[in-house]
Amino acid sequence: MSSKIQFQIIESGSTFLDPRKNFQKVVEYFQVRIDPLTGRTGHLSHFGAIKFQKLPLDAYAAPEIKGFCPFCPENREKFTPKFTEEIAAEGRLTKNSACLIPNLFPYDVRSTIMIMCDEHMVPINRLDETMLKDSFSLGIHFLKKIKSIDPSLPYHLMTWNYMPPSGGGLVHPHQQYFSTAFPGNQFMDELKASEIFYRTQGQNYWPTLIKEEAEIGERYIGATGSSHWLTSFVSLGLLGEILCIFPDVFSINDFTEEHIAQLVSGLLKIFQYYESQNIYSFNTSLFFGPDNQKFFSCYFRIAPRTFLNLRDYAPDANFFQVILSEPVSVVLPEELCRNVRKYF
Ligand SMILES: [Zn+2]
Repeated sequence: MSSKIQFQIIESGSTFLDPRKNFQKVVEYFQVRIDPLTGRTGHLSHFGAIKFQKLPLDAYAAPEIKGFCPFCPENREKFTPKFTEEIAAEGRLTKNSACLIPNLFPYDVRSTIMIMCDEHMVPINRLDETMLKDSFSLGIHFLKKIKSIDPSLPYHLMTWNYMPPSGGGLVHPHQQYFSTAFPGNQFMDELKASEIFYRTQGQNYWPTLIKEEAEIGERYIGATGSSHWLTSFVSLGLLGEILCIFPDVFSINDFTEEHIAQLVSGLLKIFQYYESQNIYSFNTSLFFGPDNQKFFSCYFRIAPRTFLNLRDYAPDANFFQVILSEPVSVVLPEELCRNVRKYF
């Protein structure tokens, strides 16, 4: 097999006298992996050392813990903003229980929040097909509309912090949809590297990655229709990461209801896996490239999050991610793949 993608692992060990073994000399191994697209490094170590912490879900819905929530139906009309006339004459956009509003604290020119449902606290096993499809469908429809109104914003993305360990400020399920010229460094690095790959290799990186990963068989999870699910060779999340690549989608206008159905179908399988592992929280993104290019396919990314403990609520991000911009993972992508594949 002639490979156009290099999966490079540097394995090293640290030697010390171990107090757990009567101060015998031991070697603890770790890995540094090089992302095959961007060339950025990621560390893998401390394998299996971090356990997902059970969240007090019932308490989140209790009035004394819950506090004030602007997304709950009784507060929504009075406390959430509305779109201006030229964006949406009806003020807020709805599809069944999904409701899209401008962000009161915007990050960009077009910065919106999708309130996914009326219910305040929804555990993972009740993030159901209807709620997910309505939310994605309304959000994608809105981004397409913004693109026609304001084509100067080339990038479109969906992001979602679910539950407090992910950085979600409100428990009430909500996503964010952006049209922007500044989609973030990760997105831009991958976009630029994809263009270079296309120029030097004469093909789109993303379907090439799918093909090579399917042949290798260690990180390829499965397909839902034309979309493909795999674990990342270098994950951004501490606890591993799963990608869904849509090889035939380049910009927002290519993304159809069928793609949404494929995304939701796979996501529900991942949620089943998460439930089996007591995973309560995650971050996700859905990235769309600019118009008129065939080198950057759309992809969805999901990474679980947890507090390290419930004693002092230590977060799972530290100086590595915040200061060094270096991802660290305690989960081998190949092991995560084996475990998730059972659900596909
Ligand atoms: Zn609420």
